[in-house]
Amino acid sequence: MATTSALAAERPLSSELWFNVTDVRQYLYCARVLHFRLGQPLHHRLSYKMNEGVLMHQRAGELERRRSLKAYGLTDGARRFQVPLASARLRVRGQLDMLIERQHEVIPVEFKNARAERQTNHRYQLTLYALLLDELGLKPVRRGFLFYLLDGRADEVVVTEGMRRFVTRTLREMQTLALTGSWPEGTRRLGRCRPCEYLRFCNDRW
Ligand code: SF4
Repeated sequence: MATTSALAAERPLSSELWFNVTDVRQYLYCARVLHFRLGQPLHHRLSYKMNEGVLMHQRAGELERRRSLKAYGLTDGARRFQVPLASARLRVRGQLDMLIERQHEVIPVEFKNARAERQTNHRYQLTLYALLLDELGLKPVRRGFLFYLLDGRADEVVVTEGMRRFVTRTLREMQTLALTGSWPEGTRRLGRCRPCEYLRFCNDRW
């Protein structure tokens, strides 16, 4: 994690910089990944792999329209797909894969092109969508789902106030990283480095 958290906690969010929801997931995977990506032009940041990911999410949405809500343990709810969300306060925008609207709640759903495995950064990505939905003031967001496409499983994630605070703090850290250009610590999980496209730039990892 970046060493700038104490500084970040004291700064207001910059009014200039906007992040995408996926930036939070990458930052929590490894802060250096965000550092490298911020140094690239936007069209490079939207790499082939990411564009493939966008197409996959669209295809998944088309399939999901034909399914019931059984995988989510629900019997009712109206679904919307590819929902654009943004917050000027948090300076974040993103596109939610699916939103389930029920009488007393709204539920964000994020599709993952993987088998079910609980990754912390995915849970916090979902939490950020919950924060963006909070700002719309529709209905309470108490939970979300990560839908794993390869085995058709939906994992429920209860979105707590503590998780919301953590993500808000994380956004401030990311802002500080972007504004100062400081060199963050890399992930402590070395297994993440081997397949990383930035490995050759991290001299302490090879
Ligand atoms: S090689 Fe490791 S430390 Fe460097 S950016 Fe990738 S994941 Fe982070």
